[in-house]
Amino acid sequence: MMGERQSAQGALFYEFSLEEHVPADHLLRSVDRFVDLSGIRAHLRPYYSDIGRPSIDPELMIRMLLVGYIMGIRSERRLCEEAHLNLAYRWFCRLDLTDPIPDHSTFSKNRHGPFRNGDLFRTLFESVVARCIAEGLVGGERFAVDASLIRADANKQNATPIGDWAAEWLDPEDVPRAVREYLDTLDDDAFGAATDVKPKLTSHADPASQWTGAMKGPAFFAYADNYLIDTDHAIIVDVEATRAVRQAETGAARTMIGRTMERFGLYPEALVADTAYGSADMLGWLVYEHGIEPHIPVFDKSQRKDGTFSSTDFVFDREADEYICPGGNRLKKYWRTMTKPRIGICKDGFIRYYASKKDCSRCALRARCTPNQPARKIARHIHEGARNLAREITESDAYVASSRARKKVEMLFAHLKRILRLDRLRLRGPNGARDEFHLAATAQNLRKLAKLVPAPV
Ligand code: SF4
Repeated sequence: MMGERQSAQGALFYEFSLEEHVPADHLLRSVDRFVDLSGIRAHLRPYYSDIGRPSIDPELMIRMLLVGYIMGIRSERRLCEEAHLNLAYRWFCRLDLTDPIPDHSTFSKNRHGPFRNGDLFRTLFESVVARCIAEGLVGGERFAVDASLIRADANKQNATPIGDWAAEWLDPEDVPRAVREYLDTLDDDAFGAATDVKPKLTSHADPASQWTGAMKGPAFFAYADNYLIDTDHAIIVDVEATRAVRQAETGAARTMIGRTMERFGLYPEALVADTAYGSADMLGWLVYEHGIEPHIPVFDKSQRKDGTFSSTDFVFDREADEYICPGGNRLKKYWRTMTKPRIGICKDGFIRYYASKKDCSRCALRARCTPNQPARKIARHIHEGARNLAREITESDAYVASSRARKKVEMLFAHLKRILRLDRLRLRGPNGARDEFHLAATAQNLRKLAKLVPAPV
């Protein structure tokens, strides 16, 4: 017999518990165990005015933003609609069924005001990293670093070639927020001062973003999202937003390693990275200043492709501080005796060793060594020892494991773009990129905690 609905009239009173309607295995329920926002009111108090209308509860705003980043909801307008309808989102935000949802415009006001002034997203990110460490998910022995390009909220139509737009022509009082931030970061190593090379185009809406063709397809405006991860469980231990150029990315790696040591007392034994981080300066900094093993392929332009001897065909005699060439002759820094001894380091950080013209002129190997010059010269970087160590490591079994570990940071970026849908920024300016990257990294760490730490039964 076919049944039919029994109640013809809506009930006058409901007994409803949100707690009972959120499934025990819901992602937000697992994540909630690791979200501790008890200190944020005290943290933000100095940044709110003592007079005027009371603001929206900052804890509610943060919980809503976390829902957005964890569930991949990129629009704040849609986040408010979803939080209105979704019981699990209401439960996570500590909202009852009848509680009103804040207007989406409130996020922007708070983001540019108390949240940014109080560096709240950084504080939140660090508190989650501290929780990961407390849960035993961070070994602290081997880190990996990498950067990924994230499209900026800028397009080619609103951009100008070099020469048609210059920072000096702008009045800081009369420009949008993103342009003001660009002017503020002109001397910052992560942005304006990263390189002297001028990009082909500058965006008027977000001039700190970089016009880049690094993804091999059509060029676009982007920021670089830099991650430093612990390779045990791919926990992001630090995150940094920079201009999308290699110099800024290697600078960010140093900043993040130094900051992780300072904040969490984590001193890694090894750093895994790709060739972009294999410059002599970076390797020297890792090996000589911090004693970190560089599991990094050396960025090396010394290999010759014309069939003549490369510098690796010359043997360095450390004791004599000279090279021995394939013909058995010596290359020295100076052939005449100096009255005042000199180290011989050039401004570019290289020491140059020269063969004797006499040796080369009568050498049978000259055509394979220096066919166009009267004598061969070899340049050795002051951090060549660190480069050699990196070369030795790339030949070892440990490097095979490190190469696999490096994939973990690439997978985090793939997850960021595909699952959390952060393939294009919604906020403009260096601070906008910084906020978005911190929230996304916090969301990724919280998802990892929820997955790896079993719920108490
Ligand atoms: S050409 Fe000069 S540097 Fe090269 S192998 Fe001969 S002697 Fe040595």
